[in-house]
Amino acid sequence: MTGRLDAYRAKRDFTRTSEPDGEAPMVRQAEHLRFVVQKHDATRLHYDLRLEVDGVFRSWAVTRGPSLDPAEKRLAVEVEDHPLEYGDFEGTIPEDVYGGGTVMVWDRGFWAPEDGADPAAALEDGHLKLMLVGSKLKGSWALVRMKPRKGETRHNWLLIKHRDQWATPEKDVLRHDRSVASGRTMAAITKGKDPGPSPFLGREARFGAAARWSSRQPEKPSAVSATPAAVSARRAPTFDVSAPKLTHPDRILWPDVGLTKHDLAEYLLSVAPRMIEHCYGRPCSFVRAPDGIGSETFFQRHAMRGQPKSIHSVVLDEAHEPYLEVD
Ligand code: MN
Repeated sequence: MTGRLDAYRAKRDFTRTSEPDGEAPMVRQAEHLRFVVQKHDATRLHYDLRLEVDGVFRSWAVTRGPSLDPAEKRLAVEVEDHPLEYGDFEGTIPEDVYGGGTVMVWDRGFWAPEDGADPAAALEDGHLKLMLVGSKLKGSWALVRMKPRKGETRHNWLLIKHRDQWATPEKDVLRHDRSVASGRTMAAITKGKDPGPSPFLGREARFGAAARWSSRQPEKPSAVSATPAAVSARRAPTFDVSAPKLTHPDRILWPDVGLTKHDLAEYLLSVAPRMIEHCYGRPCSFVRAPDGIGSETFFQRHAMRGQPKSIHSVVLDEAHEPYLEVD
């Protein structure tokens, strides 16, 4: 699958932006192909239609948005493939960055090619008939590639609603103007108001209410250890690394050097910016030392009663008990 996201990556400098690079997908498997439509208030307002094909999102910018009227053929400009985790993003891309503007998860759901066609082959041929099962977009549609005009480098397509029970000439589906992931309006998303978007592609929420794809801050571990500051980590735009409330902060964990639970928490805060990339979205095993590091320790891989809310379970396969993940 490498190569599919080359154009996507070429447009972005991942040392400056926290957009996903698609290198370590944190996307759960699904029985059906998924689609999203992201309303994107960029230089020009448009709706990005993204169809899951072969592990990436094939993407089109639909300038006037989809229409339920079969007589309305909407221009859909093919854009670069996007990683699947992109489909969970709702928030604001800063103005000075590629694609700057507010993004809403306007619709999402599952899709299937009609007549059992191979999606990649149908797209190659320039004609895809598809079924959409979303919250707003439903039923049968067509994506048809237009003959390129002389000198045209972009691929222009038409998105057309087929006649079926969901087709209607009157209703403007774009009036349904709230996010299907958060219920928010564009204005509320721009302001970063609660609630953040619920996840669809990922195993859990990755983007908070105030999600911003901002330039990466230079890492300053010393500043982090002094105060529980919000730290932005690469691929994890909204992680707030903050100190948990400690019970018994003065409890001595390393008796021979006199280090306390508070000291351990400070250390973890200082290494969090480097560590979190490797832990986030991955099942973890813990070495537990309930009576201090000098006493008996044990491995924990599955949920136990009374664990903090920031630890939750993830099902990897049916044969094993859920594993643990940390926020
Ligand atoms: Mn866009």
